[in-house]
Amino acid sequence: MAMTDELLTPLLAGDRRALSRAITLVESTRPDHRDRAQALIAALPEGEALRIGLSGTPGVGKSTFIEAFGTMLTGQGLRVAVLAVDPSSTRSGGSILGDKTRMELLSRDPRAFIRPSPSSAHLGGVARRTREAVRLCEAAGHDIVLIETVGVGQSETLVAQMADLFVLLLAPAGGDELQGVKRGIMEMADLILVNKADGELLSAARRTVADYAGALRLLRRRVQDPPDYPLAMPVSAATGTGLEEAWARMRALADWRRGHGHFDRIRAEQARDWFLSELRAGLLAQLETPAARARIDDLGGRVAQGALPAGQAAAQVLDWLRASR
Ligand code: GDP
Repeated sequence: MAMTDELLTPLLAGDRRALSRAITLVESTRPDHRDRAQALIAALPEGEALRIGLSGTPGVGKSTFIEAFGTMLTGQGLRVAVLAVDPSSTRSGGSILGDKTRMELLSRDPRAFIRPSPSSAHLGGVARRTREAVRLCEAAGHDIVLIETVGVGQSETLVAQMADLFVLLLAPAGGDELQGVKRGIMEMADLILVNKADGELLSAARRTVADYAGALRLLRRRVQDPPDYPLAMPVSAATGTGLEEAWARMRALADWRRGHGHFDRIRAEQARDWFLSELRAGLLAQLETPAARARIDDLGGRVAQGALPAGQAAAQVLDWLRASR
């Protein structure tokens, strides 16, 4: 029988340091760390947490929202973990959640656990690390796992694929135009929260909510939704207005999906997708070894010179991979 990892017992007991260390372990690309991380993940019991994905462009108020929303949840006795997916962190130099001044209250809250996005990781690596970190946070006893992402590129799709609910945070628009939110992202959203519905921005926020409510009605109804979802509503992270209501709507949706078998079905599909992306990543990694690269470079040169057909060159690499196993 395999030895139990020394992190497992403190992790299951909710020890924060064990959780931090376990996440560091799953972030590592060292082969021995990978093996250990995989064994640890395999030993975890089924997670019970609600996984909420949260996306929004910089400046819409994500950190203010997470601070207020998270603090509201911990005030209800719930334990909240916050993870970030930020594939752009290599380019921008910083990472979301990395700034210590963000979420000051929540980061000191004993019922909350906040983990910044790892720097310098490609999207595939971030995806794997985040999926595993979600499992670790659940095992450590968190009731809610919030997965935050900036509204860039494919990161929303990635987060939506690992969340039970996907929330899109928007700011009030100036005019009556929709804020260039891509249709694909709207289609993933379960809740659109128009933030900053306070003070001078209140009426603009209400208009924006109406615009999005209209746009959502035009989307095809999804089998996993009760009749009034997806929905748009105003919130103010700054004043806290609407946060209770937003949480009630999230819970109602999760409960409805549980009651209608969609919750588990969606998770099962996500697990299958995870497996397939691990498989693809594993296959691609075989092409990244120095020996494979040298061979590919060599064959690529011959293909470029017209000395070898592309299909034959690819077949040679695949044969070589099979033989070198
Ligand atoms: P993030 O980049 O999405 O994490 O956005 P931040 O949480 O850093 O907020 C960006 C700016 O919007 C800050 O100046 C916040 O004070 C402001 N902000 C955030 N939430 C609200 C809100 O509910 N109302 C108003 N009026 N301002 C807000």
